[in-house]
Amino acid sequence: MSYVDNVYENVVSYYPDQKEYHQAVKEFLESVRTVVENDEEKYQQEAMLERMVVPDREHSFRVTWTDDHGEVQVNHGYRIQVNNALGPYKGGLRFHPTVTQGMIKFLGFEMVYKNALTGLPIGGAKGGADFDPKGKSDREIMRFCQAYVGELFKYTGPNMDVPAGDIGVGGREIGYLFGMYKKLTDQFDGTLTGKGLTFGGSLVRTEATGYGLMYFVDELLKDHGQDIKGKTVTVSGAGNVAIFAIEKAQQMGAKVVTCSDSNGWVYDPDGIDLDLLKEVKLEKRARLTEYAAKRPNAEYHEGHEGLWAVKTDIALPCATQNDITLEDAKALVANGTYAVCEGANMPTTLEATDYLQKNGVILCPSKACNAGGVSVSELEMAQDSEHLYWSFEEVDSRLSDIMRNIYHIIADAAKENDLGENYVAGANIAAFNRVAEAMAAQGVY
Ligand code: GLU
Repeated sequence: MSYVDNVYENVVSYYPDQKEYHQAVKEFLESVRTVVENDEEKYQQEAMLERMVVPDREHSFRVTWTDDHGEVQVNHGYRIQVNNALGPYKGGLRFHPTVTQGMIKFLGFEMVYKNALTGLPIGGAKGGADFDPKGKSDREIMRFCQAYVGELFKYTGPNMDVPAGDIGVGGREIGYLFGMYKKLTDQFDGTLTGKGLTFGGSLVRTEATGYGLMYFVDELLKDHGQDIKGKTVTVSGAGNVAIFAIEKAQQMGAKVVTCSDSNGWVYDPDGIDLDLLKEVKLEKRARLTEYAAKRPNAEYHEGHEGLWAVKTDIALPCATQNDITLEDAKALVANGTYAVCEGANMPTTLEATDYLQKNGVILCPSKACNAGGVSVSELEMAQDSEHLYWSFEEVDSRLSDIMRNIYHIIADAAKENDLGENYVAGANIAAFNRVAEAMAAQGVY
């Protein structure tokens, strides 16, 4: 068995139930196979792949908190520090009832290589808990965050590990986490990013993933002699990533016609009304049915099916992992989609990825496309460490440069390795080379 296959088999047998982790590792290893096999002895001698797929450290802990009825609740919390070859561990926290150790591990693995593509000095980690914020009061959210950070703070620090938000963790949660972190450590520092603007947060952090995605799309289209202006865009999701991708797409002159939440999706042929969407999702934290009720021409569809069949030029999955299945990929090809650019982490299954690529749809992976969020997180770390705030324009223009640069890094890597427009492989190879070089230089430990 080849070195690459052997490493993959070991991942499956060490972590038999962690399906999403298998998926992330498989995609990565298939992409770097040729690069590794060209220099197999060197990589094998250093156990480079084994050291990449086994996280540096996995913290798994109990989170005990009391609900509004005085009942004691227990959740499972995690922080998985995957690799710090390029800088302090960096990556968000996900609070969602489906969270497992395997899910956090796949997300942490993705962070390592995403962060490598940004060119910024950050390693990769991820954390979270199987806590469901839906239907909880503000006080319950606060007590949960305080209990969670009561354990997390032992492993974090501005030069050690810097968490941020992800699904279920936004500005409100980061505020509560930061407050208790500060109380426990007496340090007012940049250990968490996504903080409020009055206490060390950065302008553009809220918008960063969505805006960054569109800067990437804009660069991709320009490089292919096309213009985002006038294009039709379909989006899944209605959270932070989706909302600010829609905002920037509209500013750039595109027409966005769909969005979705965990219950259903909306087709709005007149183009999404962003103010209404923000009111429903960000202010009221309500369902998309409320959006559809106020838009006479909009259609509301229960469930997930059908969104990717809507005719589009650019599809932006901005919801969660494995959102685009093989069936969806067939629908995207059938409706003539030009490119799929991933706003969520790993939203396309391996079968769907293969089908899209074989049928001429340009697929840009989340490691590249959604790196805007973590990039501005790193700019927040930079501001915190110099005890200064930068202007909106300064942060936004750095974000735009980083995302456009990532496009060229992955496109060049694909070209140099004779992979045409296989940007999934291009991203994995470029990121692998950077992390492997740093690991090799730092010795075996
Ligand atoms: N959760 C985001 C991501 O998946 C942001 C992480 C961060 O800002 O550290 O990239």
